[in-house]
Amino acid sequence: MAYHSLIEKQRELYKSGATFSSEARKNKLRRLKQMIEKHSDDLCNAVYKDLRRNPKSTVALEIANALVEIDYMIDNLNEWMAPVKVSKTMLTLLDTPMIVKDPLGVCLIISPWNYPVAMILLPLIPAIAAGNTVVIKPSEVSAHTAKVFEEIIPQFFSEDVVAVVNGAIPETTALLTERFDHILYTGCPPVAKIVMAAAAKHLTPVTLELGGKCPVVVEDDADVAVTARRIAWGKWLNVGQTCLAPDYVLVTAKTKPALLAAFRASLEEFYGGDPKSSKDYARIISQRHFDRIAGILAKSKGVPAVDYGKPDRDDLFIPPTILDVERDDAFMEDEIFGPVLPVVTVSGLNDAIDYIKQGEKPLAAYLFTRSEAKVKKFLSETSSGAVTVNDVIMHLTVDTLPFGGVGNSGMGRYRGKYGFDTFTHEKSVLKRGFFGESLLAPRYPPMTDSKAAQMQRLTGKRIAFPRWLSFLLPSVPVVFVSVLIGILLQ
Ligand code: NAD
Repeated sequence: MAYHSLIEKQRELYKSGATFSSEARKNKLRRLKQMIEKHSDDLCNAVYKDLRRNPKSTVALEIANALVEIDYMIDNLNEWMAPVKVSKTMLTLLDTPMIVKDPLGVCLIISPWNYPVAMILLPLIPAIAAGNTVVIKPSEVSAHTAKVFEEIIPQFFSEDVVAVVNGAIPETTALLTERFDHILYTGCPPVAKIVMAAAAKHLTPVTLELGGKCPVVVEDDADVAVTARRIAWGKWLNVGQTCLAPDYVLVTAKTKPALLAAFRASLEEFYGGDPKSSKDYARIISQRHFDRIAGILAKSKGVPAVDYGKPDRDDLFIPPTILDVERDDAFMEDEIFGPVLPVVTVSGLNDAIDYIKQGEKPLAAYLFTRSEAKVKKFLSETSSGAVTVNDVIMHLTVDTLPFGGVGNSGMGRYRGKYGFDTFTHEKSVLKRGFFGESLLAPRYPPMTDSKAAQMQRLTGKRIAFPRWLSFLLPSVPVVFVSVLIGILLQ
């Protein structure tokens, strides 16, 4: 289980600079695209074996977005890689300050089981695009998908570029003793603390993509039928095993009966009268997770609002469940990560916001309303990784938005340009010539009162020059600029 030589091999490649050029990065992205297209069926069938999720849904949920992300990276790579000139200060008027984009080095991506394809590919794409080498650690819980990655990655990448390490806690623990240049971990907060503690030993920066209880507030002015349909889609997609799934609903006593009736209609529309036999109703990942949810069901005092039969441990089936609960119900403690939707009665938006603020900051918060004033209030008074108004999960589809949590739901972000930036070091560079020496003479010892006064005039007040002026400056004779600074120094 020694991974040292693998990581050293990757580090050697990184140090050689072979991963840096735009063409090298694009070639790898194109290869990754070929791999995904060629093995799309293998990956979707493996996910079916792991989660019994309809392969057609997996194409939409985990393959299509990765392919789009690759194209988006390739299209924008040259622009994102290019050095960025920044505005100048008084002291650097004759110089070139800029940000140069450096690859970080050897990156580790640790993935969870719930979207076992996308949670590998979506971080892998920006890591490669940013010029890094990558070790992937798929989740052992989604074992079929992990095995497919182990088989297909070496067909498209040598192990010094992208390598797959499969295994469980001992293998991950061994990997984490190695020195990486960045770790992106997706999973639950308790394991994130283990990952972060291991990373701290090497001062390795981490991006932590975690979960939490994502609240949904349904206001009285919402379109109840559309609201219920959208929440039901997001909740029972992958049977609730989605980090952005609506965890619970906050609604007034006035709107609750109509909302519950609309949920029943949506479930009927999606899964018919017998979700167990529906091709679109997935399964719980493992008996351990089944037992966890069944244990909370046994403790909950919630009143069922639908009846789709009993859970079946052998089949890892838990039916769609809606419970009318009190605030101290067992389902209101931790992230549910299963097909149970608790509905809590609140007196109005203030009450709902107060309740949300009592808990940890969620990965996403959702509000259904027609009122712009309520949206403004919700955005300014709650803190979460993201918000979708009048829908759930959909902000994830916007690749120009950063994706990540805050507080207990994570740190850092990725997707699109934000992913590229996450796996890139932004190096500050100041380029000077050998002219203009007399202008900065006051900085040299011995310090005198007049030099100190000149330095005070030069640095005591921030004078920034806009970028357009910076571009013009090379065409302005140095003598003129020198005279200008000389006048300003008087
Ligand atoms: P998991 O059990 O598959 O664990 C994730 C990874 O951590 C695996 O690769 C596993 O090998 C490793 N791991 C587990 N225990 C470890 C240990 N003790 N030491 C070292 N490594 C260890 O997945 P999970 O944690 O059950 O995932 C579910 C959680 O992930 C939920 O909380 C969900 O909300 C969150 N999630 C977040 C996102 C996001 O993008 N923010 C996406 C998907 C899931």
